[in-house]
Amino acid sequence: MTALRPRFWETVSLQRMTRAEWEALCDGCGKCCMNKLEDEDTGEVALTRVACRLFDDTTCRCAQYPIRHQFVPECIVLKPANMDANLYWMPDTCAYKLLWQGKPLFDWHPLISGDPETVHAAGVSMQSRTVPEFEIDEDDWEDHIIEEPT
Ligand code: SF4
Ligand code: SF4
Repeated sequence: MTALRPRFWETVSLQRMTRAEWEALCDGCGKCCMNKLEDEDTGEVALTRVACRLFDDTTCRCAQYPIRHQFVPECIVLKPANMDANLYWMPDTCAYKLLWQGKPLFDWHPLISGDPETVHAAGVSMQSRTVPEFEIDEDDWEDHIIEEPT
């Protein structure tokens, strides 16, 4: 396993992070794995609790992360080069978005707490509060719009 530089999120830009550091930045909230609805007229994006078919509601993680594109080719690979284009739909607490906007991470972030469970204990994750997309007709997704847990 590659070592992470101490408090790298405060000293290293997103562009200069190692792959391991970039991946460690994800807090495991799972909010980016929820389907969203975009208003065609206003461009406003609504978060739903309808989870991607690969999302594991118990671990709050992708069940097939390394090979996910075999099953979900549209899953976005976030990188510095496409951050600007994706900011509009990203959750407000997302660590990538926070750093991109020059903001600090929250104290519940696992990198700061040292505990991957603190994101769930803080109530900002989607753990145990989703419905799988294969159980809900797409026409009914709007019945499952939620406020972003923050
Ligand atoms: S919203 Fe951001 S921090 Fe949360 S799971 Fe997705 S990539 Fe990770
Ligand atoms: S494929 Fe995996 S990482 Fe991508 S949205 Fe679905 S659950 Fe999330």
